Amino acid sequence: MSLKDNIHALFAPKTVAVIGASSAPGKVGHTVVANMQEAGYPGTLIPVNPKADVILGLPVTKNIDDLPEGLDMAVIVVPVAAVLPAMEALIKRKVRSVIIITAGFKEVGKEGYVLEQRLIELCTEHEIAMVGPNCLGLISTQDHNNASFAAGYPAEGSIAFFSQSGALCTAILDWALGENIGFSKFVSLGNKAVINEANMLEYLRTDPNTSVILGYIENVEHGADFIEQAAKVTREKPVIMIKSGTTAAGAKAASSHTGAIAGSDQAYSAAFRKTGVIRAADMATLFDLAQAFSTQPLPEGPGLCIVTNSGGPGILAADATEKSSLNMARLSNSTIDRLKEFLPPYASLYNPVDLIGDAPAERYRKTLEVVVEDPQVHSILVLLTPTASAEIMETAEAIIDVAKTTKKPIFVNYMGGMRTRPGQKRLTEAGIPCSIYPEPLIASIETMYTYYLWRQTPAQEYPVVKRNRQKARLVINDARSKGATEIVEFQAQEVLRAYNLPTPNTALARSSDEAVAAAEKIGFPVVLKIASPQISHKSDVGGVKVNLSDAEAVRNAFFDITARAQRMRPEAYIAGCLVQEMAPKGCKEIIIGFKRDDQFGPLLMFGLGGIYVEILKDIAFRLAPLGRDDAKGIIREIKSYMLLKGVRGEQPVNFQAIEDILITMSELALDFPEILEAEFNPVLVNSEKAVVADVRITLSA
Ligand code: ADP
Ligand code: MG
Repeated sequence: MSLKDNIHALFAPKTVAVIGASSAPGKVGHTVVANMQEAGYPGTLIPVNPKADVILGLPVTKNIDDLPEGLDMAVIVVPVAAVLPAMEALIKRKVRSVIIITAGFKEVGKEGYVLEQRLIELCTEHEIAMVGPNCLGLISTQDHNNASFAAGYPAEGSIAFFSQSGALCTAILDWALGENIGFSKFVSLGNKAVINEANMLEYLRTDPNTSVILGYIENVEHGADFIEQAAKVTREKPVIMIKSGTTAAGAKAASSHTGAIAGSDQAYSAAFRKTGVIRAADMATLFDLAQAFSTQPLPEGPGLCIVTNSGGPGILAADATEKSSLNMARLSNSTIDRLKEFLPPYASLYNPVDLIGDAPAERYRKTLEVVVEDPQVHSILVLLTPTASAEIMETAEAIIDVAKTTKKPIFVNYMGGMRTRPGQKRLTEAGIPCSIYPEPLIASIETMYTYYLWRQTPAQEYPVVKRNRQKARLVINDARSKGATEIVEFQAQEVLRAYNLPTPNTALARSSDEAVAAAEKIGFPVVLKIASPQISHKSDVGGVKVNLSDAEAVRNAFFDITARAQRMRPEAYIAGCLVQEMAPKGCKEIIIGFKRDDQFGPLLMFGLGGIYVEILKDIAFRLAPLGRDDAKGIIREIKSYMLLKGVRGEQPVNFQAIEDILITMSELALDFPEILEAEFNPVLVNSEKAVVADVRITLSA
């Protein structure tokens, strides 16, 4: 049986053995048996303990060797030293899946790490689906399987949750019990030695009992698997993740701006974006979204209608809506006519529909019945402030009734607290998200709408980039054979040309005479740049002079640049100067770079260039490969996008030229894993074309 089949055995086992079961209440080995019984586990439950006869009324098996063959699942709670022997004995019984609750593995250091590696080897060899070690266990409500030592058991529901942190599992469980939220599967992944988030995503995609997937991760170790599975499942079910351990950006020895700015957190965000995973910024958002997605249909458009019994809060909510990617739906004339028939003359018939402070439940009901039918309305936010005449419970019932008749999502903002609380409770229990603030509700609707759009967008295609890999390979091999880890501008330009990237006309001049001759050939004005394999940040040594418009300026610049470089970097070998075609006036400077992320591969960065990039950090990221939509998206994401579009009568830059460079760079990054970082800084672009005016390529040692 394959690993996939064996994962199924974890959730729906027919026979479960608890290795290290105990008759002493309070011990984990006791709690697991008790939890299984309390969940109403219908299969065969076998406590294993050499010293006991009966545990919680169940006959005990003394020895693993005496267990039946083809065991579906074993839960291991024995001390760490006994885990490996237990595992070996279980393999003889042909166990299909194992949960190792015991801690003391890689999380404690070298020795534990080695032990864990051994477990991984055994599980891999025998295709055993192993959860843990160092975990809380798992729950499958529909299977009445509670193979955990969690305190509390959730109601059946459609949310699946997996988590790297056991403590967080406990907290989520407690929240769910308080809010009456139901779960399908609940998995504490612990050290993720075998079963990790990618396995979970793959399994949950086809789990008929799961409609929303929540995950808490600290790190992903198999980036490619994660991306593959996540991209598949989000086409069918929403995946909402919270990621902690946000590390400070940048590697220690970054040699480029990209390297300094692009950290692992950007890579995670880019991975989530690429795969349509929704990233929850914090726990509150995770809970809100879990509730919204599991109870409400997706809004099929941006139009939100607010129905309120008070003006001020209605306007606040409308403001929040306008700030989001949603908009205030424009009600149709026929809707307004219908509302006129029964609303008091001083009510506002336009969105927000203001029913006035004396609105009884019936007024809410009738209004909702009308607005849900308006095709411009894609979602509804009902607002209620506890005025003296507000019918809190009756209004809740009216909302619940209308919600049953529509496929549009309805959210409720019961403002206040004391008097509105019972209504809020009733609504939540009936599966209608209800909060005392409008903003988180609007944020949830917005996220659902974004997800709706993701589901509508066909999977991206990746354009084929014309390139001469062999030519680029020669340059890279040449640099490596010389032991260089950096390819400086002149050689790197050859790589660019092999990929049809636009480079300025450039020549290497070893003397001032050669420089003048080259400049005359290229045409004035030109740029002179120091050419030295040791000097990669040329401006830092005064090694760049732009806008040289005649022979004399070129000659002076040559002497000046080489002399200064010699003085500032006496150890550097100075080949001479590059003479380069000057980009036309009025170009904008942008930066395009990539850095190879350990988990997710090439992470591309785009931003407005120049020396301020590290301070302004107006940059955006995407993971390779980049499709046309990615390229368009990364450009639009930066705040200075408007500058590129042109201000005060300026022409917009040639966006397609930038997109082409981005797409090609992503291809270059995928073609050559030995390139650690590359950076085009600046790319100079105007309304006609883009040119890579500087390039630096960093190789792995
Ligand atoms: P470095 O980054 O090593 O200091 P660059 O080659 O990027 O050196 O040059 C420094 C600056 O000079 C660039 O940011 C750009 O403003 C300008 N520059 C460089 N090459 C050109 C060019 N071909 N045309 C116009 N300006 C250029
Ligand atoms: Mg530069």
